[in-house]
Amino acid sequence: MGEYFIGIDLGGTSIKLGITDATGHLLHKDEMPTRPAEGAKAGMERMAAGARQLAESAGIAWGDVKGLGLGAPGFLDLAEGKILRLTNIPWENVPIRDGLQDLLGIPVVIDNDANVAALGEAWSGAGAGLTDMVLITLGTGVGGGVIAGGRLIHGAGGMAGEVGHIPVEPGGVPCGCGQQGCLETISSATGLVRLATAAVGAGRATPLKSDVEAGTITTRDIVNAAREGDPVALEVIDTAVDALARVMAILTLVNNPAAFVIGGGVSGAGETLFTPLRRAFGRHALPDVARGVQIIPAQLGNDAGMIGAAGLTAKGTMMG
Ligand SMILES: [Zn+2]
Repeated sequence: MGEYFIGIDLGGTSIKLGITDATGHLLHKDEMPTRPAEGAKAGMERMAAGARQLAESAGIAWGDVKGLGLGAPGFLDLAEGKILRLTNIPWENVPIRDGLQDLLGIPVVIDNDANVAALGEAWSGAGAGLTDMVLITLGTGVGGGVIAGGRLIHGAGGMAGEVGHIPVEPGGVPCGCGQQGCLETISSATGLVRLATAAVGAGRATPLKSDVEAGTITTRDIVNAAREGDPVALEVIDTAVDALARVMAILTLVNNPAAFVIGGGVSGAGETLFTPLRRAFGRHALPDVARGVQIIPAQLGNDAGMIGAAGLTAKGTMMG
């Protein structure tokens, strides 16, 4: 007996499935290759079979599974439960909510990958117990999700929380979204590597030069150089955290979160990132509003998406 929820994190290379209890505690998880070329119908059928298998492996009767949520990367019609267009998966105009509901006989809710990660962190991760928080993920791009008043915010067109595309540098470099100078072009892993490469190109002396010239430079190299005191690496990180902190200062005045939860690969830099980020936030944010705002690392890692997806259908039981 009990109430359980399944979350699916649909990605370009793998599909992650997890089953949680009503408090967002992950009980069991599984993973399968996405195989995008097989098409959406085959994908849906494998996801449905995987969901039933997951419950069975966890020793949970299907009748106790009360809902299934799906997080997907790309453009979705949330009201209609449809995939419009995805990143790295060539499935278009797929009525995936109704398709999965027909196959499984339980309520299904879909949302984008950044939103479900935010919901996961708010439900049982770094933001557990907070009704107002913003998740910002610093990975290849910059993603975000906003929880306000205990609810995931979608806005009129479902685009709320797309913090990576807030423009921060007029006339800056082109972004994948078509604009220029978005936060994502500066504060993502891609942005950090771009800034380090530009510094080497400008003739700055740095131990990163060999990595840049070999074309192998990663965020990890930049973070390691910063830890060893390389001024160029420290400047690159300062530039990235300054842009991020300015966006956070603005968001603070929009919905006054109790915490910014920072996730994604770049957040693995730990205090090399968080210390200058907190300092920059202190510089840019209005003191009376910013006081007490926590800036903390995400806790759920790659499980955030599936846990939050499960939370989409557990709304009635989460966060009071
Ligand atoms: Zn953009």
